[in-house]
Amino acid sequence: MQVFGLVGNPVGHSLSPPMHEVAYEALGMDARYVTFEPDPDSLADAVRGADALGITGLNVTIPFKQEMLELVDPDPLAARIGAVNTVDFSSDGDVPTGYNTDAGGARRALERHDVTLDGAAAVVVGAGGAGRAVAFALADAGATVHIANRTEATATELANAVAETESVANDAVTAGGLDSLAPTVPDADVLVNATSVGMESDETPIPAELLHANLAVMDAVYSPLETRLLRDATQAGATTVDGAWMLLYQGVEAFDHWTGRDPPVDKMNTALRSRL
Ligand code: NAP
Repeated sequence: MQVFGLVGNPVGHSLSPPMHEVAYEALGMDARYVTFEPDPDSLADAVRGADALGITGLNVTIPFKQEMLELVDPDPLAARIGAVNTVDFSSDGDVPTGYNTDAGGARRALERHDVTLDGAAAVVVGAGGAGRAVAFALADAGATVHIANRTEATATELANAVAETESVANDAVTAGGLDSLAPTVPDADVLVNATSVGMESDETPIPAELLHANLAVMDAVYSPLETRLLRDATQAGATTVDGAWMLLYQGVEAFDHWTGRDPPVDKMNTALRSRL
């Protein structure tokens, strides 16, 4: 039997087990997906233990994504983002390989909704773990990216990191505080909320009057599925993409890294949504 899992703290309400296990069942795999909650200071022991026990792959969530980078051999994208959310123990090297599939998850979620990224003007709100993955993903896909964050210095730091990318023109990435939303969102094609605002309260970090019908709006927040931002966006006539799509595709990409097989995306989507 192959064992996959999620390390985080807490991981109690994770939607990843049902999403992955439906894929194992559909593909006839003898596999299980288990959640692990190590103490915050024992991640290195947990990774060595997982390797020794023959675990095939791990997803990684808060608070371990940055620390995991130091414990694996990160692929170039994960190294640029500075965070690992997927570990593959089946690689040949002495240390497992680390990936960041939040980036591909965000890109594929938008593509699934026919949102064109190459040449688009994108605004990313938030510069934490999700914001970093989304900003790199959109810039790599050819969008110009403005990063707006409550703490402006963090947005600037992220913009500088993205601008170091060879294929990204220096003036293709800008940064500002949340007050930079008013001058940028009205001309944007794509808007992504990568803050945690909207998760525990019916709030939005983006004033509704800035939204418009030519915008595709994705929220990384997936609980609730219909956030206030997405309600405002629908009312403005914008295309909306909820956070479960990003969650789905980060899982799909992780599955692909671990198994090299195409997972049944629609079955995984149904399993995920039935629990939200
Ligand atoms: P994080 O690293 O803690 O970053 C939080 C971000 O939210 C920071 O940019 C922070 O700004 C901003 N923020 C927090 N409270 C705010 C407020 N009251 N007003 C304005 N900005 C505020 O968290 P994360 O890992 O990036 O996660 C962010 C959200 O994305 C969470 O809801 C998470 O569940 C979701 N997420 C979804 C997926 C998916 O697959 N759908 C994947 C990853 C994360 P400061 O820098 O100023 O503190």
